[in-house]
Amino acid sequence: MRYIEPHAHMVSRTTADYEALALAGCKAVNEPAFWAGFDRASAQGFYDYFRQITEYEPKRAAKFCIRHFCWLCINPKEAEDPGLAREVLALIPEFLAKPGVLGIGEIGLNKNSRNELQILEEHIQLAEDHGQLVLVHTPHLEDKLKGTKLIIDALKNHPAIDPGRVIIDHVEEHTAPLVKDAGFWSGMTLYPESKVTPNRAIDMLEMFGTDRVWMNSACDWGVSDPLSVPKAALEMRRRGYDDAFIDKVVFQNPAEFMGQSPKFDLG
Ligand SMILES: [Zn+2]
Repeated sequence: MRYIEPHAHMVSRTTADYEALALAGCKAVNEPAFWAGFDRASAQGFYDYFRQITEYEPKRAAKFCIRHFCWLCINPKEAEDPGLAREVLALIPEFLAKPGVLGIGEIGLNKNSRNELQILEEHIQLAEDHGQLVLVHTPHLEDKLKGTKLIIDALKNHPAIDPGRVIIDHVEEHTAPLVKDAGFWSGMTLYPESKVTPNRAIDMLEMFGTDRVWMNSACDWGVSDPLSVPKAALEMRRRGYDDAFIDKVVFQNPAEFMGQSPKFDLG
């Protein structure tokens, strides 16, 4: 089986995880910029992080024949400090020229605060100014529906942003139709303890179809499973889905979305 892991925080994972991904058939990973488990003290911390995901991780992935792509932003949690956020935003354009950078992400909202919304708006403008793809994080639990609506409204305020070039991640049953009806791509995050289980994700494919959707592990420094995408593929097989169905969901769809950037290729 071949697949793409379209949302993984590999800076938090071991080299053995890269090997496990490769053995399961992973051809490429997407690494959106996110919270590192602690708040960084200055923009310099983000400069070093951007160097890590644009220069070092691609080399670590290449040892296992995996292509590594990344996305840049200041995540919504640390965007609560607008002064810091604007210093980080100013660093991003020089990194957009790097070979593996596919777009701006994962931007979005965490607590749906006024500061987060302002910085989300500035990221969308940055994506528009530089013609970048966009990868969006939606809030957890009780904040998810309201946050998803706020994010869709913010994106729609930019008519130059094509919804087909934006993926809204961490959708659940109550937010997937909003995202789909507005023309955006949807990401389903498979987590062992929270978010969506493989069975719920497959139920959603049955409810909402297999167009403009991908599955990811969003594996990071917390309780998460870097192999959750191939495990979901196994679950699809148990339900009787064939190779063509599985390949569309776990390989062709992410390749189609990422392929909108001229920098995407599988080598
Ligand atoms: Zn993430």
